[in-house]
Amino acid sequence: MGLSITERLANGPVLGAEGYVFELERRGYIKAGPFVPEVVLDFPDAVRELHREFLRAGSEVMVALTYYAHREKLRDVGREGDLEAMNRQAVRIAREVAREGDALVAGNVCNTWAYDPDDPATKATVRAMYTEQLGWAVEEGIDFVISETNDYLGEALIALEVISELGRPAMVTLAPTQPDRTRDGYEYTEACRILAAAGAQIVGLNCDRGPQTMLPLITGIREAVDCALAVQPVPYRTGPAAPTMETLRSAEGERAFPIALEPFGCTRFEMADFATQARALGVDYVGICCGAGPHHVRAMAEALGREVPAGKYSPSMDLHPMFRADISAKDAAFLHTWTA
Ligand SMILES: [Zn+2]
Repeated sequence: MGLSITERLANGPVLGAEGYVFELERRGYIKAGPFVPEVVLDFPDAVRELHREFLRAGSEVMVALTYYAHREKLRDVGREGDLEAMNRQAVRIAREVAREGDALVAGNVCNTWAYDPDDPATKATVRAMYTEQLGWAVEEGIDFVISETNDYLGEALIALEVISELGRPAMVTLAPTQPDRTRDGYEYTEACRILAAAGAQIVGLNCDRGPQTMLPLITGIREAVDCALAVQPVPYRTGPAAPTMETLRSAEGERAFPIALEPFGCTRFEMADFATQARALGVDYVGICCGAGPHHVRAMAEALGREVPAGKYSPSMDLHPMFRADISAKDAAFLHTWTA
């Protein structure tokens, strides 16, 4: 038995990696719009490979790709009958790859779009969806659960209850799409404090904001909770004018979210800086969300002082023909054209 998530967090920061849905959409295996992870059943090798890439880059957690694999979403795409198979297979794939290294397996649930704080009946609907998804996940074998991209504290608390009933550690993170509070009106800091008081082992934020607009929210949360703090931004250059990836606009004024975000992408160096800054602010679970690539994760791992398998191929620009110290006279004659 390896160390549990809580033991690992007690020993130092844990590096996570997500963004499976965005990356597999880019690779042609998930349909943008519904964003249902049909790939789990249709092209399991594609999921396996992305897990492996994140593992080699240094991610310590393989997150089962069950994001949006809940009953309402599967009904939208006419695959409700595949619900159980999809959820079970996602955990099996994550476990299989986790064993190739020393990674933990996280079950995963997210915002359902079914929750309405003004309609109490929706609580039962959400609870039932989480219960069936996580019940299958626990049977297949998970170490802890990540409940993420929560717009509502109320919905996050339902997830936390279900996870607690299943006896697994819970990491519950909020989606900071709004300026300073959840859709049901709780400041992010207060919402995290409530989640921690309700028993979440790890609380924090994930998705929607890039490092520049995510980092300013961290200090308040760090001061409000004693438990572990998780932060997983998107690798996009959000800023004061567009604090979230949803608000980013092209020069022509077109919405970039969700499938024209490439011009706003962070470099690996920016994500490495984020990892260093997050750590300095007391973040325990340092991660990355939609838009992540293995190159980001490896740079973050190395910024945290890790040696990782993919590090074997980390950059050596001193060996580049044009940038090496002993550049040949033939090539040096053209170097000015590379800087003009
Ligand atoms: Zn995300």
